[in-house]
Amino acid sequence: MCGIICYVGKQPALPVLLEGLKRLEYRGYDSSGIALLEDEQIRRFRAVGKIRELETGLIEWTSDAKTGIGHTRWATHGKPCVENAHPHSDCAGEIFVIHNGIIENYLALKQELITAGHRFLSETDTEVVAHLIEEACREHADLEEAVTRALARVRGTFGLAVLSTRHANSIIIARRSSPMILGISDSGTFAASDVSALVAHTKQVVYLQDDDLAVLTPDGYRITNLHAPAEVNRQEQTVDWDVDAAEKQGFEHFMLKEIHEQPEAVRNAMRGRLVPSEGISVLGGLAGVREQFLRMEQLILVSCGTSFYAAMLGRYILEFCTDFRVEVDVASEFRYRRLNLRDNTVVLAISQSGETADTLAAIREAKRKGALVLGLVNVVGSNIARETDAGIYNHAGPEIGVASTKAFVSQLTILYLLTLYLARHQHMSVTDGQEFIRELESIPDKIEQILAKSAQIQQVARRYAQFRDFMYIGRKFNYPIALEGALKLKEISYLHAEAYAAGEMKHGPIALINPDFPSVCLATQDSTYDKMMANIQEIKARCGRTIVVGTEGDAQLPALCDDFIGVPASSELFAPLLTVIPLQLLAYYIALENGCEIDQPRNLAKSVTVE
Ligand code: GLU
Repeated sequence: MCGIICYVGKQPALPVLLEGLKRLEYRGYDSSGIALLEDEQIRRFRAVGKIRELETGLIEWTSDAKTGIGHTRWATHGKPCVENAHPHSDCAGEIFVIHNGIIENYLALKQELITAGHRFLSETDTEVVAHLIEEACREHADLEEAVTRALARVRGTFGLAVLSTRHANSIIIARRSSPMILGISDSGTFAASDVSALVAHTKQVVYLQDDDLAVLTPDGYRITNLHAPAEVNRQEQTVDWDVDAAEKQGFEHFMLKEIHEQPEAVRNAMRGRLVPSEGISVLGGLAGVREQFLRMEQLILVSCGTSFYAAMLGRYILEFCTDFRVEVDVASEFRYRRLNLRDNTVVLAISQSGETADTLAAIREAKRKGALVLGLVNVVGSNIARETDAGIYNHAGPEIGVASTKAFVSQLTILYLLTLYLARHQHMSVTDGQEFIRELESIPDKIEQILAKSAQIQQVARRYAQFRDFMYIGRKFNYPIALEGALKLKEISYLHAEAYAAGEMKHGPIALINPDFPSVCLATQDSTYDKMMANIQEIKARCGRTIVVGTEGDAQLPALCDDFIGVPASSELFAPLLTVIPLQLLAYYIALENGCEIDQPRNLAKSVTVE
């Protein structure tokens, strides 16, 4: 998920690697490391924290090595510490691996390798790759063949690089669902997980495709496929981005890039956690507390901001599919309330950063009162991850934009997995579980279809950018999404947005409606459709403008409302994963129209570590 830079050529490799790692810093990371191949020996150096720390540690180093690999790690398995930082090596210290992504079956592989006599020095999933290659080398003298054999055993995602004393002056690269790009220049050959690390050296690049394996040498590269030894041709391309654009992969802002990463965020949250044949989800992080969790009498979801709206939706879906008693609370209130927790209470804290001060205080309070405390966080090894009894990681990759988008959708995905997990231990049948999985697995493609409508949503945003006040309404599963949509608009455009459960309109808010106060209405075809339709009529009757997010192909709404944005059909339970996408894009494009500072909105911080 984080950064890779590799170089083999005529220049000293170390400065190239350090410069490349700095270019990758924008992605967010927790530790870094390099390995250099010189005189048939590999030297490695790793550090926790910023690249600065790595540089300071390397100050004494002089190296003429012209081959090397560098990595910034964003921990997914094992806390951020020197031992877990990449590169990881085999037992003999001859094979070094850097890796972005997740090896799903690493535990089984690790067990097998330990039984075969391998010694592991880290908690990472990545280290199994180094040992698997070492093992394969016993039978196949050729390193390329050994890497291919090793990767055939691996399930999951990888963009990786292998440096070995067995393969002088070369680096082996492979990818599956994690980007790797080669850079070609007169001074040598590069590989990186992100063009931004290459553009300072060369604009000639080759984008590797899934299951490509490339061997880099000072004079060029050769690409084969992990499943077939024949050489494959990949077109060389010229990058015309500058460094800044490259970091955002051509998107104008990180927020927009992250909105577009959402199909992948959903896939990453689900990866390795679903068993379609049995209609169940497997949440490895909860294995140790399984019995206690299933015995719970009360589940309380605590969080702040966008994560709180994820929790609200979590309550709806958990209540819909299970018999558990579920409550939600804003962490800053929970921590000060007089809590009267039932026996067997479980508190689930939700936080992207895992550092949110109020959420941290809330879990400490819950622990003091005897609750089992679980975490749902994106950042591995963060405070909340450490202080909770057990938990689930998002694996959404770093989120840079202050206004959360992909972390929210990832949190929702995990809450669906959690719902399935609990429901299948209660009344949900295997066939309903299988249907649940089918629906969830169809979501990433449906999000892609919505993203393809960005230009239409931008047009809508242009028509509304001059308004100062907005109303957002939804019912049932779409109610938390209305709240989140309004929050997105507030955060990045500084416009006034109210959000209500649509049933509340007549109890007061409808008084606000006039031609200058447009309403964003969530009206997918579901059990509350007719009621939403009535709300929209009532707004129209008061000359209010309406932007409706509804189901594609709806025969009535496009004629009734001022602007209609369709999302693909789904069962109502899963609609929030779709309806939130147009609201994020709408907020983004309205802020863009108004010239706002989108990635760093005024007064806001990415992770709120103070009360
Ligand atoms: N899963 C690996 C680890 O936790 C790689 C993480 C990354 O992509 O940076 O070490």
